[in-house]
Amino acid sequence: MVVPPSTAAHVAIRRAARERGLSRLLTAGLARAPCAWLVLLLVGTACHAPSPRIAVDSPWGEVRADELSTAANLVQDLERMFPRVRDLLPATRDVLPEIWVQDVPTYYRWWEHDDADGFFVPGTNRIHLRALAANGTLEHELVHLLLDETWSTLPAAVEEGLCDLVSVELVPSTGPAVRASRASGASLALGGLTFAIDYRGWTSLARISAEPVDPLGALASHRADPASATRDREVRGVGFLVAERIVERHGYRGLLALCDLARRRGLDAVPASTLAQAADLAPGTDEVWRDAIRETVSAPELRRLALRFEQQIAEQLVRDAARMDGPIDEADFFARAAPRLRLLGDVESIPLGDLTPIRAAFEDLRRKRANR
Ligand SMILES: [Zn+2]
Repeated sequence: MVVPPSTAAHVAIRRAARERGLSRLLTAGLARAPCAWLVLLLVGTACHAPSPRIAVDSPWGEVRADELSTAANLVQDLERMFPRVRDLLPATRDVLPEIWVQDVPTYYRWWEHDDADGFFVPGTNRIHLRALAANGTLEHELVHLLLDETWSTLPAAVEEGLCDLVSVELVPSTGPAVRASRASGASLALGGLTFAIDYRGWTSLARISAEPVDPLGALASHRADPASATRDREVRGVGFLVAERIVERHGYRGLLALCDLARRRGLDAVPASTLAQAADLAPGTDEVWRDAIRETVSAPELRRLALRFEQQIAEQLVRDAARMDGPIDEADFFARAAPRLRLLGDVESIPLGDLTPIRAAFEDLRRKRANR
């Protein structure tokens, strides 16, 4: 699904791209995403990145790379995963992929997706993957490739969520990282998240604030909309939360049925309110959304969230240490105070003393404060 940019937007995008700033313009400040939201432009084929030199064929598609060993390795992954992705999803296209493995995923010569591990080129059977892409990226992109027309009314944010969901189901080791990242994004969409740090007998709070995004607006967002791309992390968080809850309640076929109904009614996309309702997320009540986010976070996700926000948590720990009696060093603090972290409103917690980067950040901040 690609909406051609308007003439004015097209000119602006070309100008930005010429300055090699477009990917940064769209994704400033974000960590690398599993999948770029590719905007196709009307440009000549001379602008396209060259095809990798080596091609290896397989029963499940072709893999191209500059090194034979790289292509051969990916063919093994493809042969293992393609049938599993196809069998999991209803309503798939009868198509085999052509996969380009590149150092940096690149479609146009002047637009390297250095912020993403891969992308699918809409309207083709081509997938671009980073040579050192994170586990689960291939499975994510195969979902984009395989979805047939019946899914065309699925908003882009929820399609991303569906791709994440399938990749997590087929590569369970990626689950905690993906869930933590999406829980973080969805929380930031709601204006931020608050950690509770429990000590013996008292609790402090570490709050991470963000400009809120309307969750229903995020659900309705389209990949060709640069405004939504600038809040990519938040949009993906909301999309994953909704996709996961709908599939938990109604299965992949239930999600497909919503798309099919919207299509029969002549709608461009499943309404955001319909998706929220199917996910048991009443619109306009933030606490319902926050409860849903907390449900996706258990100890493995919490450890990753702690590391993602280690600086903010360490700053709160230093403030808390200052409230304790006597000078207190890192080993002393974690042994005596035994701080535990949880999301505010949740009960499951983890010991912060087990996280070496948190201890190191604490000690670094404490020394800086002592030297002032
Ligand atoms: Zn994607």
